[in-house]
Amino acid sequence: MHTPVRMCAACRKRLPKEELIRIVFTDEGVLIDPLGKLPGRGAYLCKDVKCIDKCAKKGALVRSLKRDIPAEFYETLRTYASGEKQA
Ligand SMILES: [Zn+2]
Repeated sequence: MHTPVRMCAACRKRLPKEELIRIVFTDEGVLIDPLGKLPGRGAYLCKDVKCIDKCAKKGALVRSLKRDIPAEFYETLRTYASGEKQA
C-alpha cells in the first residue's frame, strides 16, 4: 500500500503522513487536523516536542503557513504530541 510522505516543517525529515501532525490554517484560525481532512493551507510536524519547540523558536510553521501562530497553539501541540506518545 502506498503511504503518502510529508516533510516535517521543523527538522525537514520525510515521514509517512500518519506519523506527522497536520496543522492547518482555516477561517477559524490555526488548528490541529488529526484526520488530515480539513481544507486549507497545511503544514506537517513530527509528533516530537523537540520539533514543536524548534518551530516555536524559529517560526518554521509561520513560514510554512504564512500566518502568525499564537503562542498557546504551541502548547496545544505539545499536549497533543505527548498524548499521542502515551496512547
Ligand atoms: Zn521533525
